[in-house]
Amino acid sequence: MSLLFANARVFDGRSGDCAEGLWVRVAHGLIQEISTTPLPAPEGTQVIDCAGGTLMPGLIDCHVHAFASDVAVGRIESAGDAYRTAHAVRMLGHALDCGFTTVRDIGGGNHSLWRALAEGLVRGPRYFYAGKILSMTGGHGDMRPIDERPRYEAVCGCAGAGANVFAVIADGMDAVLRATREELRQGAHCIKIMGSGGVASPTDPIWMNQYREDEIRAIVNECTERRTYVSAHCHPASAVRRCVEFGVRCIEHGTLIDDDTASFVAERGAFIVPTLSIIFALVEQGRALGFPPQSQAKVEQVFEQAISGLEAMRRAGVKLAYGTDLLGSTYTDQCREFTLRSRVFTPLEILRQATSTAAELLMMDGRIGCIAPGAEADLLLVDGDPLADIGLLAADGRHLRAIVRAGELVKRETTA
Ligand code: ZN
Ligand code: ZN
Repeated sequence: MSLLFANARVFDGRSGDCAEGLWVRVAHGLIQEISTTPLPAPEGTQVIDCAGGTLMPGLIDCHVHAFASDVAVGRIESAGDAYRTAHAVRMLGHALDCGFTTVRDIGGGNHSLWRALAEGLVRGPRYFYAGKILSMTGGHGDMRPIDERPRYEAVCGCAGAGANVFAVIADGMDAVLRATREELRQGAHCIKIMGSGGVASPTDPIWMNQYREDEIRAIVNECTERRTYVSAHCHPASAVRRCVEFGVRCIEHGTLIDDDTASFVAERGAFIVPTLSIIFALVEQGRALGFPPQSQAKVEQVFEQAISGLEAMRRAGVKLAYGTDLLGSTYTDQCREFTLRSRVFTPLEILRQATSTAAELLMMDGRIGCIAPGAEADLLLVDGDPLADIGLLAADGRHLRAIVRAGELVKRETTA
């Protein structure tokens, strides 16, 4: 199928100066041609009039968990594969309808879901996944309650035995290397580690730095050889700093960052993916949804500093990408991150976070998150100007006149 966007105002993913009156031709899944003069529409071409709208790259959410079917991680485990998959189908379909043409599943994703999406068995965005997250014993990926007996026999010398839906427990050089290689063998696009304490885990304080320097450097080195990168879950500034110092390329959350650390991250050219959506959702609805009480206390602590953390990142000029981290029924908040970030950032800054900078993080610079000849045809036609009103993207797709993923028109609203 060929598409021709006529008379389009174009946000290319980077520049705040949108070009007007362009013709954009899409065929074979790619943007073929961009012209300042009208292009012909040969037989079989669908012409889409863009008058009054803005054509922009499809959105990218760099922090999702497709299989997170509940806010209580213990209940996700017992829900079973079919239930988790059903949730994934629902949340991925919703993401696409909101204009997210790419997501990065940063914990728990797998090749099986990737294949179902790639073959069109499941409707959803382009799918990048980190596989299972590497966590140390007692780290953020270790979901055993405090009174559960240790499983040293299983963990020791047998990577993968101490695993849950989202994480694999690996301690020491041999185990972290084996776990990294195993995830990469299973097609992981990058490796995620737990670099600090977290909210949802039962036994680790938020402020705790996790993994030793030699373990982190070994994982980074393994990923560099594979021409990919490491992403680390970190809340406290100390964890952010040491992870980036040891070669981690992307920080998830970064909530408790300070100005010094933000400058350090910016200097090193590393990325941060803040996740305000889940923090706000849990503070507002966590108790009602059955989020465990010890975790509720931790999320409220993180919430206090979430906005000031973003301000520090902005002052330092850190490369930021869009992320949400939503669990269970809160998946419907995916667009709310636009509204929450607008407390700190301009619409242009947020638009870049959700397009070109996110693409750079995914090592897909110039292929997604942009409008350029040769790029993948992942496009949105927004009814209005998102640079003037970011709320147009925060309305769950209601202001999207067209959604195109890989050159296929997945939504088109014809104006009466
Ligand atoms: Zn995390
Ligand atoms: Zn997460």
